Amino acid sequence: MAPDLQIQNYIGGVFQPAVSGAFLDNIDPSTGQVYSRLPDSDERDVQLAVEAAARAFPAWSRTGPDARFRILMRIADLIGQNMEAFARAESVDSGKPLSVSMSVDIPRAQANFRFFATATLQFASESHHMAGEAANFTLRQPLGVVGCISPWNLPLYLFTWKIAPALAAGNCVAGKPSELTPMTAYMLSKVCQEAGLPPGVLNIVHGLGHKAGQAIVEHPQVKAVSFTGGTETGRKIAAVAAPMFKKLSLELGGKNPNLIFADCNFEAMMEGAIRSSFSNNGQICLCGSRIYVERPLYEKFRDEFVRRTQQLITGPPLSPESALGALVSRQHLEKVEQYLSLARAEGGVILCGGERADVGGDYRGGYFLRPAVIEGLPLDCRANQEEIFGPVVTIAPFDSEEEALALANGTAYGLSATLWTQDVSRANRIAEQLQAGIVWVNCWMVRDLRTPFGGVKNSGVGREGGNEALRFFTEPKNVCIKYG
Ligand code: NDP
Repeated sequence: MAPDLQIQNYIGGVFQPAVSGAFLDNIDPSTGQVYSRLPDSDERDVQLAVEAAARAFPAWSRTGPDARFRILMRIADLIGQNMEAFARAESVDSGKPLSVSMSVDIPRAQANFRFFATATLQFASESHHMAGEAANFTLRQPLGVVGCISPWNLPLYLFTWKIAPALAAGNCVAGKPSELTPMTAYMLSKVCQEAGLPPGVLNIVHGLGHKAGQAIVEHPQVKAVSFTGGTETGRKIAAVAAPMFKKLSLELGGKNPNLIFADCNFEAMMEGAIRSSFSNNGQICLCGSRIYVERPLYEKFRDEFVRRTQQLITGPPLSPESALGALVSRQHLEKVEQYLSLARAEGGVILCGGERADVGGDYRGGYFLRPAVIEGLPLDCRANQEEIFGPVVTIAPFDSEEEALALANGTAYGLSATLWTQDVSRANRIAEQLQAGIVWVNCWMVRDLRTPFGGVKNSGVGREGGNEALRFFTEPKNVCIKYG
């Protein structure tokens, strides 16, 4: 399967341009050049998508679990068979190293479909017995047409993380991937067609967030919106959807702490800290962007962390040597650079990185930035409070557990936290008090798809993953039957 230069919407099983006929440029971030185009869709395309989904819903919602399982597994198989094509397309579209697309993004997209395919066979609902009087059972029924909107950092991974449970639960979808990274969602639509997913069950509308995305959220027939993206966008979506009483799942930004105690396994921690700081160019909502180290270990940590950061190769996404690729867009690169300037103005010392990387050759116009480590910033400065979402981390020492917790919990976000210690009692104590939806102890990004996934505070509302996702995409109805 080869990426197409002309991406199309996928509506009612048919590939089509935007109703307006307008296109947007799709830029390869490693060169800064336009390499394909995508439909610049608006509310008319969304209307077509919602109509197609509504037409498909009665039959799809009555399709039994076995049939749904077979189709979703076939989609998973086809993603697996086209793994390399998907991975290359993802890297070209987003700038991430091919090693990341091959080991994280596309295997996970495949796993999402496989996981929720099997979940259709196992999802069960509760019953409540009232002794001698009545029995209650809960029907879990699909909602109808649902909206799935995803960001650019893990494009197919996060798009399928929403679509797969929505379809598994019997809904029909109007989905929009990020306009910056539309290619693999387009390839997915071809796979769905080949897998025999009935027309209209999944509709993919490409285009801008404030046009196509907003039209999905505003559409009265869209019963629920599952959104992953920035906190400000989440706020706007909530403001539109809440008065319409839509179900909402909002997975938003993070400013995750990484707490390192002096008794940790140094080598395992160091390897983990490098990954949690700079994987995917630091453009993962779960990256640990604020690193706090217990004082006795601080200098040793700092020197070794900076040394290893300097060794990371920033290079062409498709090169096997590249540990970091290009940032997703010029606008995003400039935003990260502004935060670096701000950090300097706030008194931070940049220990390494933060300058553009000259990758040379065809890549001169690409958006490459060397990974940066900043020291000397207080908790309350903007660089430590706002999400930078790039290859930038701040480091600081702490003296006690209480101080570590205060630092960790001292932002408006609460997505994930990482903790490195060999003291199990301390790990338990701290994990309990961290304000985060996910706490990793002595590891990072270890994911079991059955676990609840999501954040607290400004990092979102609701949980994805496992039965949480299937519950989100179904409406419970209690049926009470009187005995006798
Ligand atoms: P955005 O919020 O800018 O966009 C996310 C998606 O929403 C895109 O498809 C975007 O379209 C669309 N969109 C934008 N405005 C609207 C609107 N008014 N109505 C409906 N849809 C809209 O996020 P980014 O793409 O920049 O992604 C980065 C953010 O995502 C970071 O903050 C990161 O932390 C967060 N994130 C959170 C995760 C989590 O699980 N909590 C996981 C991964 C990322 P378009 O691209 O065209 O603007």
